[in-house]
Amino acid sequence: MSDSSDPETGTSNSGCNTPPRKKSKRWYQQSFNKQWLTDVELRDWVKEDPNDKNTAICSVCDWKLKNCDKSALMKHKASSKHTRNLDTKKNTLNIKQFFKRSDAELPQDKVAKAEMYLTGYMAEHGVPFAQADHLVDVIKKMFPECETARNMKIKKTKASYMLQDGIAWEERQLVAKFCRENYFSLIIDESTDVSVSQVLAVMVRVYDEKKCKVADLLLDFVEVDDASAEGLYKSVKEMLEKEEIPLQNIVGLFKM
Ligand SMILES: [Zn+2]
Repeated sequence: MSDSSDPETGTSNSGCNTPPRKKSKRWYQQSFNKQWLTDVELRDWVKEDPNDKNTAICSVCDWKLKNCDKSALMKHKASSKHTRNLDTKKNTLNIKQFFKRSDAELPQDKVAKAEMYLTGYMAEHGVPFAQADHLVDVIKKMFPECETARNMKIKKTKASYMLQDGIAWEERQLVAKFCRENYFSLIIDESTDVSVSQVLAVMVRVYDEKKCKVADLLLDFVEVDDASAEGLYKSVKEMLEKEEIPLQNIVGLFKM
């Protein structure tokens, strides 16, 4: 932002175009008038300067207009510089609008959302994914006029993919980010999965400031070859380092 005077309007950032003469009056000070913010002629482009009560900002030109009354502001509005900048801004906005996706939700997005809700429901209530397609058939019969329901296609493989690589992945990124930035307690729970390999569930106990409560969140499942204390320590440490979670953020440890 320049500090020189605006050649096309005579307005100036310094508030004065000629060197001060001894006998000249003090420069007239014009404070920003809040009514300009609702004035139809001004409200679209005049902004307040938070740092100077005598300055108005033209948001089109990104230009400071010091000690201006309404007539000086209108003179700036009519200047070729302002008109030119306004045209450029309008064209840019049109291009942006052209590339902006419509606010109306696309049909395929509605279907994806519906499938995601269904997968989330099945995971939360322990409904086997093998039932996914049967459930979808029922929904289609229940709402025959609904295009979204008609286009839902979800079977066991897709449901488990959406859960593991979609919902769970996203959730895990959030938990890891939280642990990178906050203190937490580590909870580990060792179990054996269907393939009889040792799996360690790594949970974190955190204080959720937004909800004002303590929450236990799943951070990761770690496969362990060595179930000794040293082996578990090594596996968990490696996982935390991979997620770039500082070990200093751990304030407690539970083993279930
Ligand atoms: Zn302007």
